[in-house]
Amino acid sequence: MNNLFEQLGVNESVANGLKKLGIETPTDIQTQIIPLALTNKDIIGRSQTGSGKTLAYLLPLYEKIDINKKEMQIIILAPTHELVMQVYNTINSLSQNSGVNVTAASIIGDANINRQIEKLRLKPHIVVGTPGRILELIKRRKISAHTIKTIIIDEADILLDINNIDGVKAVIKTTQRDRQLQLFSATITDETIATAKVMMKEAELISLEDKNEINSNIEHYYFTCEQRDKIDLLRKLVHAINPQKALVFINRSEDIEITTSKLKYHKLAVEGIHGTNIKEDRKKALGDFRNGKIQLLVASDLASRGLDIEGITHVFNLDVPEKSINYLHRVGRCGRAGNNGIAITLTTERELDHIKHYEKTFDIKIHHKDLFKGDVVDKQNYY
Ligand code: AMP
Repeated sequence: MNNLFEQLGVNESVANGLKKLGIETPTDIQTQIIPLALTNKDIIGRSQTGSGKTLAYLLPLYEKIDINKKEMQIIILAPTHELVMQVYNTINSLSQNSGVNVTAASIIGDANINRQIEKLRLKPHIVVGTPGRILELIKRRKISAHTIKTIIIDEADILLDINNIDGVKAVIKTTQRDRQLQLFSATITDETIATAKVMMKEAELISLEDKNEINSNIEHYYFTCEQRDKIDLLRKLVHAINPQKALVFINRSEDIEITTSKLKYHKLAVEGIHGTNIKEDRKKALGDFRNGKIQLLVASDLASRGLDIEGITHVFNLDVPEKSINYLHRVGRCGRAGNNGIAITLTTERELDHIKHYEKTFDIKIHHKDLFKGDVVDKQNYY
């Protein structure tokens, strides 16, 4: 058995399926989580974005699920529609490529509930969804909570926050006491751990990296301008750099639409994603961004959590993030899977304290840059 995934307890078919997807060497989190999850322990897993968390929790499920039983066996909770769809697509691709017929249904908030009920009649092995709708379907007895063996909570710091915890707890309570509970997130505070432990049985904490670590393959720049000139500066930067694929972050979801239209006015290839988009629009925007039809995607912090889009080369902070945790999550969207990334923050003079704070918090250098004759140069060097 020289396949590294098989050594961790993954079966041969799934290991071959992974190989077809170009995945042959387990990441650190996978190496630690897979054998542990197979022992049925409760787990709290903390690891950086892009570290392979999703497969770390999905692969053991392929061992655990009895595919001969037409029964719902796993619930995966995630906070956003995109993340739900991403996990759902990963399951389908894994099943297809491995020939192991694990089935799944995606259950998200604003989609047609009757169609979801239809899908649930087929008794998928895994139900992946947002907590509110899952709870509703449990109450309506469309999801059979008593056959659930494992619950996975992805982006646990969001799902256990004050807005979501009641729904999540209610879902957990409907299942049998001996089910396994696993929590994953890039950042989990001590407070969240304390909350989670109340619901868990001697949970094992796997904390892979210092929660404040930023990948060293990301370079950091900042540019200064007046608030009212930010859009214009962004336009110039896009022309100067011509990024292959860039996320543009702003602080307030309510501003996504207006920001996107301002950038469109400047003839940039851009779309926005946020909570109130019609589902189809969001799907199209993400699809176009993924396949390179559009160059820029405007997002807020929540809309972007957990999004796994390959090949993001640049992250622009059109608004300076207000919390360091958001700086960490935003810049973690680029420079994934060993690639390089550049994070560029547009600040006013008044926001410079944030830049200094992030340098200190993350022990990084955020270089002061400027545009000179259409090129990006070090701020002090051009005059
Ligand atoms: P995640 O942290 O789960 O969002 O995964 C980030 C990306 O890494 C996804 O595109 C995965 O397909 C990819 N990935 C996960 N595990 C591995 C691995 N062992 N080797 C290479 N790529 C991986």
